[in-house]
Amino acid sequence: MVDKGEYRTAIVHVTLTGSSYRLAHDSCHAAALLWNQAVDFVHGEWKAKRSPSKYDIQAHLNSLDRQDRPLHAHTTEIIAHDLHEAIKTSHANRKNGMKVRSPWRKKNYRPLSFTKNFGWRISKDQLHLSLGRGRPRIDVAIPTIVDSATNKNVDPELWGEIQLCWDQDNRRFSLHIPYQTLREISTGHAVTAIDEGVINPMTLATWVDDTTIDVTIINGREGRAIKRQRNKSVGQIQRKISRCKNGSRKHRRLVMARKKINGKTKLALRDFDHQVSRKAANHVINHNTTRLVVGDVRGIEKKTKQRRSANRHQRQQLSQWSRGRQEGYLSEKTNVEIEHLNESYSSQTCPACLTPNRPSGRYYRCKNPDCGFTCHRDAVGAVNILQKAIYGEYIPIGPDATIRVTYLRAVERWSLDQRKAHRKVQCQKARALSSAQNRALSDVTQISKPILANSFTSTDSSVPDQLVVVA
Ligand SMILES: [Zn+2]
Repeated sequence: MVDKGEYRTAIVHVTLTGSSYRLAHDSCHAAALLWNQAVDFVHGEWKAKRSPSKYDIQAHLNSLDRQDRPLHAHTTEIIAHDLHEAIKTSHANRKNGMKVRSPWRKKNYRPLSFTKNFGWRISKDQLHLSLGRGRPRIDVAIPTIVDSATNKNVDPELWGEIQLCWDQDNRRFSLHIPYQTLREISTGHAVTAIDEGVINPMTLATWVDDTTIDVTIINGREGRAIKRQRNKSVGQIQRKISRCKNGSRKHRRLVMARKKINGKTKLALRDFDHQVSRKAANHVINHNTTRLVVGDVRGIEKKTKQRRSANRHQRQQLSQWSRGRQEGYLSEKTNVEIEHLNESYSSQTCPACLTPNRPSGRYYRCKNPDCGFTCHRDAVGAVNILQKAIYGEYIPIGPDATIRVTYLRAVERWSLDQRKAHRKVQCQKARALSSAQNRALSDVTQISKPILANSFTSTDSSVPDQLVVVA
């Protein structure tokens, strides 16, 4: 069933040419200056025992000299509203016991927002980003956005408020374009439990019928490899940086190299998190889930050193674990809100007899001689969370219950051997095809050669070049 619309944000890199680039650069600086002014204004108001609303901040910015706000009026407005929003969030977080300050830092660069129909407009083949009446505008080629759910191009009519952001690591501008998309809404009433882990980012469990539990384990090998590679190279560069003089040419070069690595990794990890959540979302949608329960591991990465709960490698893994982002993506992709549930002992308790075990390795074996339950370790955690989500406590799954485990890789990449084997088959196919065509064409060859050359290149482009030469 397809009905409700949702917003997704596409991030597209743009190449700005000479004057547009400078314009974007100057405007981002100007936006930061406006932000700083707004922050100063708010702090001044607080000193005078007043609490300004977002319209007060907006009015203050609008009262500035026109030269000091060389942006579209809506862009300025959004800066004021963003600041107000940030203050509200900091207040809410402080109420929840977090140590946070409302915005105070001077900014040097800020993204620019352009509202639909006013801030941005499309003419023949360009996207115009307006900086206000009477000022030059930033022109970029119209980006193509493909909806990841439907694989179709998104019409600019469905785009929302565009942001022009500077990608610090990749050193280029990018457009953040939210667009409306249609997605499937589940109508079932199944409960799916998720056990999260560093090695297997998500393990999902759902009761299919009275005796079967479907478990999908998503493997995160790819993500670990990306992070490990990054940590190693950044560590090497960092050691070199510590040995050279600050600001020297070598220093600058090393800092650039580090940025490059970080930029690439950032994109790769974002893709990885999307892949993980897509695989999880497929499980959720296929089982008609309306309730998603996740074992609560929030805050596990905090104070690991004081608590001595992990060695330094594990600490690094924990702090780089993008669990929250994967949950966010999953919730977006499925339109199901995520609940958190205390998951203590979920991976140690036997789902069949509730005996506590301490599994070693990736496989779970119950030590109770009357039970003898064996299963994949992460599946155990997910099944227990599922039982707790349904019944409020850990309940044995019953003697005739079967756990059906599907093992998925987050990213389907072939091994070197697989790739080699595939290439071999492809080459054989191409060779067979080309020789068959040669045989068919060999009669024609004797009649007229130039026509053959033309007809061959135009009719079949799938045959590799070197094989054409043989012909
Ligand atoms: Zn057992």
